[in-house]
Amino acid sequence: AKSWIMVQHFEGVPKPEDFKLIERELPPLKDGEVLLESDFLSVDPYMRPYSKTLLKDGDIMIGSQVARVIESKNPAFPVGGDYVGYAGWTTHFISDGKGLNALPSNWPDHVPKSLALGAVGMPGLTAYFGLLEICKPKEGDIVMVNSAAGAVGSLVGQIAKIKGCKVVGSAGTDDKLTFLKEIGFDEVFNYKTVSSLAEVLKKASPEGYDCFFDNVGGKFADAVLQQMKDFGRVAVCGAISIYNDSVPSTGPYIQPYILFKQLRMEGFLPARWDNQKAEGEKQLLEWVAEGKLKYHEHITNGFVNMPAGFMGMLRGENTGKAIIRI
Ligand code: NDP
Repeated sequence: AKSWIMVQHFEGVPKPEDFKLIERELPPLKDGEVLLESDFLSVDPYMRPYSKTLLKDGDIMIGSQVARVIESKNPAFPVGGDYVGYAGWTTHFISDGKGLNALPSNWPDHVPKSLALGAVGMPGLTAYFGLLEICKPKEGDIVMVNSAAGAVGSLVGQIAKIKGCKVVGSAGTDDKLTFLKEIGFDEVFNYKTVSSLAEVLKKASPEGYDCFFDNVGGKFADAVLQQMKDFGRVAVCGAISIYNDSVPSTGPYIQPYILFKQLRMEGFLPARWDNQKAEGEKQLLEWVAEGKLKYHEHITNGFVNMPAGFMGMLRGENTGKAIIRI
């Protein structure tokens, strides 16, 4: 098996020398075990903050994959079966079956299996439950989502449109804005080139925002919170603008807005809805198969390029879900 290890904990922005490719011989299978080969691997923002707490120097990088059983000593996991695993950045791994999740049985042939790491996987469930359960959008609500052209954001905007909302999205390149318009966003802006976030937010929705799905945190979130309508709902999904900070950030200083606008602001992890996961996956797969939910994948080819794919995603090179194809 080839695997990528994290040589040392990241200081600031991850660098190529923080990663090392190793090769290991895997032991023969014991009864009850299976050998899997990764076809697609996921690179996600959470790997940056979670590496701090979950990994020691020299550990294999954390992460999930869509992998195929290539040898089996467990009748419940036959050769050829596709599963989502959480074995980290590795081409092959041995499993006793625990933690392997079969792709939904009604997976249509024309839907790429890599979507089990994207629109029909963790990012899809994050968008689905985070928007519907935390933001609780009603028809006619105005929804703001940042990092809108990414894996989660692009789905949040489309689900909000399915629910009859007006959707405003931001992203870091003009090509991403074009993509957002194509998938149905009503108003879009490039947060890197606007002179004032407050002004552009006001212009996009003069009456303010009912829902804010925050993928970015930091100053961006502060700006949106000031534009919320009374009783607005804020889903704190991510804080990518501060994951690379070496010095912990302070703030926010917007408590008066939360108070006087009587906002509800709540962080969440999709695992909270594990008991409804099958229902979420079924709905997402249905929307994808019907073409109601458009997906875009940013594919990096070759396991050898996995760190580059990860660092590129953190820099904003991806439109849609960042995936590594072996
Ligand atoms: P994306 O596909 O959105 O990729 C990350 C994107 O973040 C980049 O493409 C870039 O786009 C944007 N970005 C990078 N730096 C900044 C910055 N300083 N300010 C604003 N945008 C920035 O990733 P995901 O969709 O997988 O994740 C989006 C967010 O959701 C992350 O914060 C992630 O941690 C969070 N998340 C949370 C989960 C949960 O359980 N709560 C689960 C999954 C994701 P651009 O060109 O627009 O800058």
